Amino acid sequence: MNTSTKPKTQFTLPPLPYSDDALAPQISAETLRYHHGHHHQTYVNNLNLLIADTPYAHYSLEEIVLRSEGAIFNNAAQVWNHTFYFDALAAAPQPPTGEFAEAVERDFGSLENLKSEMLRAAVSLFGSGWVWLVSDKHNKLSILPLQNAGNPLTHGLVPLLAIDVWEHAYYIDYRNRRADSVAALWDKVNWAVVSARFAK
Ligand code: MN
Repeated sequence: MNTSTKPKTQFTLPPLPYSDDALAPQISAETLRYHHGHHHQTYVNNLNLLIADTPYAHYSLEEIVLRSEGAIFNNAAQVWNHTFYFDALAAAPQPPTGEFAEAVERDFGSLENLKSEMLRAAVSLFGSGWVWLVSDKHNKLSILPLQNAGNPLTHGLVPLLAIDVWEHAYYIDYRNRRADSVAALWDKVNWAVVSARFAK
């Protein structure tokens, strides 16, 4: 029985960058409390349990996402994906700027068209998963739907925006209406954050 050491890496739940009611009515305070306080927290807790006493206890979260599989990957990627998702939402979102705004025009024709293509991908994705806006090594934008805990980093792509299409993301507010939840989400997507991610 080892009582003198603690796990090398103990991940913690990042706080939301806004209050529970900041995204209402598009996303209710109740949804945020469950989604962040329970679902996201549980992925953190599970990850910490699963990596204890394994080589992954020495890795960063991104390294675990890139190098693990199975239950450890699923929980690590869900921790990463949710933090990335929550960080790009805001009570008073800003429009796209700079090179990202130009890339949207070039690769999608317009922001409205990008939104409608992501909505179509969200509706087309069967079961649980994420719809990603990504860029490749040539800075070309594209939409990447991934099932379950899928993450673009494992595909060699740069994540820019994540839409969570797991039922837990919308069931309290929208019940079965995934399309309505995504259509409403656009009112809270902060394109300034997405533009900054693209500029990196
Ligand atoms: Mn979720």
